[in-house]
Amino acid sequence: MTFSVHGLAVARGIAIGRAVLMASSRVDVAHYFVEPEQVEAEIERLRVGRNAVAEEIHRLQHTIAGMGPKEAPHELGALLDVHLMLLQDEELISGVKHWITERLYNAEWALTTQLEVLARQFDEMEDDYLRGRKADLEQVADRVLRYMRGVASPVAPAPSRRKTQQDLLLDDSIDVPLVLIAHDLSPADMLQFKQSVFAGFVTDVGGRNSHTAIVARSMDIPAVVGARSASQLVRQDDWVVVDGDAGVMIVDPSPIILAEYGFKQRQAELERGRLSRLRHTPAVTLDGQKVELLANIELPEDAPAAVKAGAVGVGLFRSEFLFMGRRGRLPDEQEQYLAYRKAVEGMEGLPVTIRTIDVGADKPLDDTVPDSAHLNPALGLRAIRWSLADPAMFLTQLRAILRAAAHGKVNLLIPMLAHASEIRQTLSLLDSARAELDKAGMAYGPVKVGAMIEIPAAALTLKIFLKYFDFLSLGTNDLTQYTLAIDRADESVAHLYDPLHPAVLRLVADTIHECNRQGKGVSVCGEMAGDVSLTRLLLGLGLRSFSMHPAQILAVKQEVLRADTARLAPWSAQVVDAEDPASVLAGA
Ligand code: PEP
Ligand code: MG
Repeated sequence: MTFSVHGLAVARGIAIGRAVLMASSRVDVAHYFVEPEQVEAEIERLRVGRNAVAEEIHRLQHTIAGMGPKEAPHELGALLDVHLMLLQDEELISGVKHWITERLYNAEWALTTQLEVLARQFDEMEDDYLRGRKADLEQVADRVLRYMRGVASPVAPAPSRRKTQQDLLLDDSIDVPLVLIAHDLSPADMLQFKQSVFAGFVTDVGGRNSHTAIVARSMDIPAVVGARSASQLVRQDDWVVVDGDAGVMIVDPSPIILAEYGFKQRQAELERGRLSRLRHTPAVTLDGQKVELLANIELPEDAPAAVKAGAVGVGLFRSEFLFMGRRGRLPDEQEQYLAYRKAVEGMEGLPVTIRTIDVGADKPLDDTVPDSAHLNPALGLRAIRWSLADPAMFLTQLRAILRAAAHGKVNLLIPMLAHASEIRQTLSLLDSARAELDKAGMAYGPVKVGAMIEIPAAALTLKIFLKYFDFLSLGTNDLTQYTLAIDRADESVAHLYDPLHPAVLRLVADTIHECNRQGKGVSVCGEMAGDVSLTRLLLGLGLRSFSMHPAQILAVKQEVLRADTARLAPWSAQVVDAEDPASVLAGA
């Protein structure tokens, strides 16, 4: 039966494929396809893993048999019996084999997929005791996964099978696109999927401008977040359509719906083809204003794609992604230096703006350690506050960035400043980093230093910021969050998260105006910059530098080419002054 689940549109486009349900805790399990001739080897790998764990349990049983009831209570023996039984469970074994043979999933992926299927069956059980066995099943599967992780796969991953042609829609073979459905995904989880097999993403939780959503957008893969109970309503392997433009997922679509979305997919493809012709066209408005279109990147490996998309530099390198998911082991100076240098060299002489680490709130360093210690992480120790709380770590990052600046044009960008004291402390640490490099005789290059304007306090004290910094960059995602007191990652208040609120627009307009008046560089690097429906407004407010996901650059360029800033300026001022700017904008 066809039904739809509504959420928030975060990354445009249409994906049509089969659902892959995944527990958030298991996204780090390897996901790849194997070749048909490798199926037997994969099943064997699983058998070896299961046998190894069974042996481990037998050994434990043997050890505790010789112990007294104090050291080894009776329950422990019973628990091991249950684990052994689950390990040999026919439904588990045949299910996993099914995913390997029928879908060509690698063994680990097949195991976690079948685990999801069985976990649901356990959830639906009436009997408390039986329902409680779900945890045992998960523990057993985790043991097998741990064992398999320690043993390298003899099987090389087959290339991704992602396909988009309409003629695949009714094809029931293995060769179909896959859509990942999870309760939640952290930004670091999402990043793992950059080169993955998935053609679309849906999560139950998350806001439109949460960092997970931002990473999904940067991957240019259709995604919907905040779809509430999507992961409960969909079953493993269901056919789904993800409409990333409307924020809807359609489950078990009828042939008519499939045909309609297939058509939309082809239209989007044609539009991309049309836009690609603008790649080498300079971004200049009808009245001759040059506009700088820059890229936001998360990893050094993203730089070539930014150049390919026609970016004239990187306006925001979110360096925190180098630090995430490393289970406490942060990259040292050399590792960071090599990463920044790789980004700089990847941009082939174009400038790279590296933002110092911005972790905290919805970007935990390590999502295996939930941030429950802080009542309100978005208002807590994040970004520059985190850096200043650990000067040795911050100095390491500053030295690495300065050293990378010897290889090309680098700008340094500081996130979330609000106080003059924080500015002074930051600049003094930058001086110390240079002095340390001098002392060590290490080469480094010049950097322009800029500040993010993303807290209302900063936007209201521009005089201080302009005194100390070479340029400013408007982080409109956080500026909206903090001006309106709306958690950007919380879908329950997502309807109130509004970058077009007159208060947000006033802060944006004043910042651009003041920077232009003083001849200081100003850009927008929040999601507003890549939103084509806002390009004319920002141009009219005097903005000439936009930084966004590479995938958005050509669409924004098209808007720039059609704009006349002299005519837009008075209209933009009206929009900012309006009680309801969105309706003025919509009526334009
Ligand atoms: C912003 O806040 O607008 C921004 C660009 O930074 P981030 O999204 O990484 O918080
Ligand atoms: Mg921010």
